[in-house]
Amino acid sequence: MSSPSPVIAQWFAAKQQNPDALLFFRMGDFYELFFADAEAAAAALGIALTARGEHDGAPIPMCGVPIHAADAYLARLIRRGFRVAIAEQMEAASARTGKAPLRREVVRLVTPGTLTEDSLLDGARPNVLLALARAGATLGAAWLDISTGLFETADTADLPALLGRLDPAEIVASPDIPLGDYNDRRTPDTTAPPPLAARARIAEAFAVASLDAFGAFSDAEAMAAALALAYVQATQAGKLPHLSPPAQHSATDALLMDAATRASLEITRARDGGTEHTLLASIQRTITSAGARTLAAWLSAPLTDPAAIAARQAAWSALLDNVVPLRAALRSAPDIARALARLSLGRGTPRDLGAIRIGLSAAIESAAALPPDLALASYAAPLHLDPALHAQLAAALADDLPARPGDSNVILPGFDGELDAHRRLRDDSRRVISGLQLDYAQRYGVAALKIRHHAQLGYVIEVPAASAETLRAHPGLTLRQSMANAARFTNPDLTDLDRRIAEAADRAAARETTIVATLTAAILQQAPALRAAAEALAALDALQSCAALAATGAWTRPVVTLDCAFAITAGRHPVVEAALARTARFIPNDCDLSPTRRILLLTGPNMAGKSTFLRQNALIVILAQAGLPVPAATARVGIVDRLFSRVGAADDLARGRSTFMVEMTETAAILNQAGPNSLVVVDEIGRGTATSDGLAIAWAVLEALHNQVRCRTIFATHFHELASLTAAMPQMCPHTMRVREWKGDVVFLHEVGEGAAGRSWGVHVARLAGIPAPTVRRAASLLTAIERGAPCNLPLFAALPTSLPPDRLRLALDAIDPDKLSPREALDALYKLKALGLSSE
Ligand code: ADP
Ligand code: MG
Repeated sequence: MSSPSPVIAQWFAAKQQNPDALLFFRMGDFYELFFADAEAAAAALGIALTARGEHDGAPIPMCGVPIHAADAYLARLIRRGFRVAIAEQMEAASARTGKAPLRREVVRLVTPGTLTEDSLLDGARPNVLLALARAGATLGAAWLDISTGLFETADTADLPALLGRLDPAEIVASPDIPLGDYNDRRTPDTTAPPPLAARARIAEAFAVASLDAFGAFSDAEAMAAALALAYVQATQAGKLPHLSPPAQHSATDALLMDAATRASLEITRARDGGTEHTLLASIQRTITSAGARTLAAWLSAPLTDPAAIAARQAAWSALLDNVVPLRAALRSAPDIARALARLSLGRGTPRDLGAIRIGLSAAIESAAALPPDLALASYAAPLHLDPALHAQLAAALADDLPARPGDSNVILPGFDGELDAHRRLRDDSRRVISGLQLDYAQRYGVAALKIRHHAQLGYVIEVPAASAETLRAHPGLTLRQSMANAARFTNPDLTDLDRRIAEAADRAAARETTIVATLTAAILQQAPALRAAAEALAALDALQSCAALAATGAWTRPVVTLDCAFAITAGRHPVVEAALARTARFIPNDCDLSPTRRILLLTGPNMAGKSTFLRQNALIVILAQAGLPVPAATARVGIVDRLFSRVGAADDLARGRSTFMVEMTETAAILNQAGPNSLVVVDEIGRGTATSDGLAIAWAVLEALHNQVRCRTIFATHFHELASLTAAMPQMCPHTMRVREWKGDVVFLHEVGEGAAGRSWGVHVARLAGIPAPTVRRAASLLTAIERGAPCNLPLFAALPTSLPPDRLRLALDAIDPDKLSPREALDALYKLKALGLSSE
């Protein structure tokens, strides 16, 4: 085996520290990837795979991405599930001595949960890293968003609900903690420190004597929080971004919804994975991306405390008549939190400094735009930031800031005398030289004297050969070159000037770096205040979004109470309504689930609007408890502790579970977890199996909800037989989607009314869907026959073209008594029937 080249040896060392990541290895203006990394990246990015040098007698596979486009490639790799370690050159190429390669170090591990660049992040969504740790029977959770400084913890009894709420980009958890559908977001690194060490570690990170300074954290919470910090530090080459101190959550302060419920209600993400047809998109009137993130966070974690809900309602209500000035002020507000995060990790750009400057003015303007209302006081207070910092940044920073330092001036002229002097020399060299040239021409009495720049000699005095002798007489001048027609001299001043000009550019750059560092330090010193202001601005943006919605008159402020009330008048489904807007009017519907009628059984034909009604009421609960306006004329909602939404027969082939199995698993979760303060909406339960099976299951589940769980329920079903069970279930109230028959056709009115559907109209729907007319006619006559109780023999099957001898098959069929067959015998019987059919062809 040959020993690797020095650079490849460096690569091996860096790779060994980061075996689970692709290594972006800095080589001049490229990040290069080698060996298996190169093969994986070239395939994932669709870039050319080449080779560079040899190792062990074989060419080394290689691919590379240019530095200036690296972010775009990084984003694609991260989205494809890769982690990327970035190894930078730690010294300038000009500083290289001898043949040793430049020093390179891994400065950062880029993982889905530790992103900070706007190009890698979705502006409208939080990017959460979750850490989990177990202490005894308790499961502790800590989550943070390093791009905004958020840091929170909770003891969690319901991990699926927490996962659904946070939708973490990455999860640090040991393999014995099951993550369900989120398992592919688990990171390899996992060991949580023991409780005492964990507490000490967090106290140290926040420079306090004890973690108790921030609350009474459980061991499990402390361990999870320390695990999160350790992971962030490991990915940031030892650095920690500015984070807010850990804030404790209790398991009951948010409405619990598991991932299946969230998915079925399409709150922040639609079933197809997109974000367009979601509850969030339908209510979003935010102006800034930070505001969009806050609104998304509110929707993901609706509250359970009526006072906290009322506070949010009061805040947006206070903006109702005053929203215009605030909107104008927010329009210029940049993403302060994310700029701050980059600055705190030492990877801020000049534009991040600019973002803080503009953010400070946006905060001042927004504070001035707020009406003096007590409900807004807690949002207004953090906006009063240090005017000195604003003045300093305004005086220092250029208006148009470059994306990278060095591309153009970051610091304004006039801010720093020394910087100005370096720049003058750098930029004004031509003027300085021509002044000097005039000066020398006079001093030495040679009118034709020129100062020129020479590649090897630097700046020289050049005179015609005839004047060479005159200049040689001057002791201060040194002849450097003499040619047939000209001679070149230098003097110490000129040599010095030459050096100074060359150095001026470097000095200007260095001085600018120093000033930028000073400004950055001044900003970071006020990081907590800036983060609080950023949060307040984001919240104000979310609040004005609510006010804008409510100002249309179509959205209203719900009454939220601590009982089991539920009364909606003229409720709407905002997403379906928006989708209909062009073609049809959405029909509003009431919903009353008050205690004497807390189970609403909804029957009616397909396509009549059952699923829409079900979901709209669940969405109204989410909106109401998030403190937002709701799409209804009036709404009264008693606090819901857990919300369940289940859609029958949703195929889940991707996870390899049968439709019916999924349905039953989800139904089991409802019956096991729902309580008297929950809201359950179930859609078409029992659809995924045979009719009698399905009916039996739907019936039993309905009974359990009525008699044991005793929660508010909307139960949509195509089994209209269930509507006759009112005597056995007095709190069940049958409703149906109104339908009108018109000239033999069915018209869906999309109105929910009391009563039961007499029939299911499936044949009509088949016609609407475009099933060919003869088939529809045939289905209609079959239906009539079946409804008359005709046995499934003649004349029903008479019209079927068949060559089977019905007598032999009939005899065999009649001989079978299904109730007496074992599964094995049933299978044998099937084979026998099949064989009979075949032999008769
Ligand atoms: P079902 O669950 O009864 O099969 P859906 O709720 O899926 O019916 O509704 C089918 C379609 O009917 C929707 O896509 C929508 O276009 C329309 N629709 C539903 N509810 C309403 C309504 N309240 N007003 C107007 N159109 C509606
Ligand atoms: Mg439906």
